[in-house]
Amino acid sequence: MPHHEVVVVGAGFSGLGIAIELKRHGFDDFAIVDQRADIGGVWLVNTYPGIAVDIPSASYSFSFEPNPDWSRVFAPGDELKRYADHVADKYRLRDHLRLGTRVERADWDEDGHRWRLTTSAGEITARFLITANGVLHQPKRPDIPGLDDFAGKVMHTAEWDGDHDLTGRRVGLVGTGASALQVIPKIARRVEHLYVYQRTAIWVAPKADFRIPKPVRTLYRRVPVTQRIVRAGTNAVVELFLVTGVTQNRRYPFVVKGLERLCLAHLKRQVPEPDLRAKLTPTYGFGCKRPSMSSTYFPAFRRPNVDLVTAGIERITPKGVRTADGVEHEFDTLVLGTGFKVIDPDNLPPYPIAGAGGVDLGEHWTRNRYQAYEGTSVPQAPNLWMLMGPYSFTGFSWFGMIEYQSTHVLRCLTEARRRGATRVQVRQEASDRFFRDMLRRSKGTAFYNNNCGTSNSYYFAADGDAPLLRPTSTLQALRRSRRFDLDDYAFTP
Ligand SMILES: Cc1cc2nc3c(=O)[nH]c(=O)nc-3n(C[C@H](O)[C@H](O)[C@H](O)COP(=O)(O)OP(=O)(O)OC[C@H]3O[C@@H](n4cnc5c(N)ncnc54)[C@H](O)[C@@H]3O)c2cc1C
Repeated sequence: MPHHEVVVVGAGFSGLGIAIELKRHGFDDFAIVDQRADIGGVWLVNTYPGIAVDIPSASYSFSFEPNPDWSRVFAPGDELKRYADHVADKYRLRDHLRLGTRVERADWDEDGHRWRLTTSAGEITARFLITANGVLHQPKRPDIPGLDDFAGKVMHTAEWDGDHDLTGRRVGLVGTGASALQVIPKIARRVEHLYVYQRTAIWVAPKADFRIPKPVRTLYRRVPVTQRIVRAGTNAVVELFLVTGVTQNRRYPFVVKGLERLCLAHLKRQVPEPDLRAKLTPTYGFGCKRPSMSSTYFPAFRRPNVDLVTAGIERITPKGVRTADGVEHEFDTLVLGTGFKVIDPDNLPPYPIAGAGGVDLGEHWTRNRYQAYEGTSVPQAPNLWMLMGPYSFTGFSWFGMIEYQSTHVLRCLTEARRRGATRVQVRQEASDRFFRDMLRRSKGTAFYNNNCGTSNSYYFAADGDAPLLRPTSTLQALRRSRRFDLDDYAFTP
């Protein structure tokens, strides 16, 4: 017998969310394994100055567990960590946690109908395996010559050293993605000088962020329906403009064009200098790359102690950076705002998974393109579901994805129990059908219709596919998870 009926890898919000559903459906023999010493995933690890959500907090939470205590419209990172703790306590998940346990590989045992996990704490076996290990957790160091020669302090935004005070320091920051965008305005005020090295400008919309007044929070607590109404409103706005705009770009190009106009007007209002504005203007269409929101990012570049450098980095020297135009900048701290490994062979999946017949999942995807039935299961790996598989995230709140993927998984597990099945495998035909549908729908997205050539976007795989985002609305994804045909799986006793 396996050690556990179910093992969930990852104690971020995805792992916690599926664990709640497991308990609700009467699955009590499960473990949540995480390499970290604490829960929270992204919100445990990322502690850089300015970290906050970039979709409204009313939407960025479990639908069944609203949080009346968000202090701002866009809550800061430490509140998300507290929310994770609250959820783990309220739903009694702590007894299931096996922290400080890194999964090194997973092998399917055909004879025993179970997964064998090789972990830093020994072998763990499970009848069913659910990967909730996220995608944005392996910091990516840029491939710039001389990086190891830098004599000063180097910090990735996801490995922030809070003891390294930046006050009065000269700092070089590489990257202008979603994390850098939050860090830059926060540190610009403190540092003596900040050089920001930009490869690709980011689309930035205004951020209507403000403190939620105490009486409003009290109202949310006493009359929860009021917060649900706000959530319905923020859901509708994000879904309509962002998800529909990007996924239905060919049909409704005016939505994305409208967003581009909004962002450009925001830039023009905040940056009157034409030269600086030109540098901050993206050369690709909205939606090709992760956009963000900020009302403090652009003004930071108007400060006399901040330089936006677009010349391209030739190499990193022991004292700073030499750019392609031969200019040298000296600083003592180098911040890497260079994001995460995303569609990389050692991140999807982040550890080797050998499925039926020993097929290596990572190699299988590299050879046959990233794909998974309904974004969660593959015929090569029985008894395994991924919460964030290829074509799973609709681009709205991560919680929407967690909830509809959990619905899918629990329907499969409940059916397996009902039929006394110990082996559950999605049929190849169903998987192929879903993949064809995703490819067909992808053709209508902004990724293939809005001039993405210069976007350097992590949404794209090396083969040109854009498998991170599911080109459907969140509602469609939810409906599918409730109604997909269970006969798309083979249940074997
Ligand atoms: C800085 C930042 C800001 C973000 N802001 C937003 C936002 O505003 N809105 C939004 O919708 N999304 C946002 N995201 C996306 C974010 O990834 C999700 O919202 C969500 O928190 C991810 O949860 P998760 O549980 O899927 O993954 P994670 O939070 O990454 O958790 C995965 C867990 O798996 C563990 N793990 C990984 N590999 C192993 C292994 N081999 N063995 C054991 N454990 C392992 C990790 O330690 C981690 O704890 C943001 C991401 C980042 C990085």
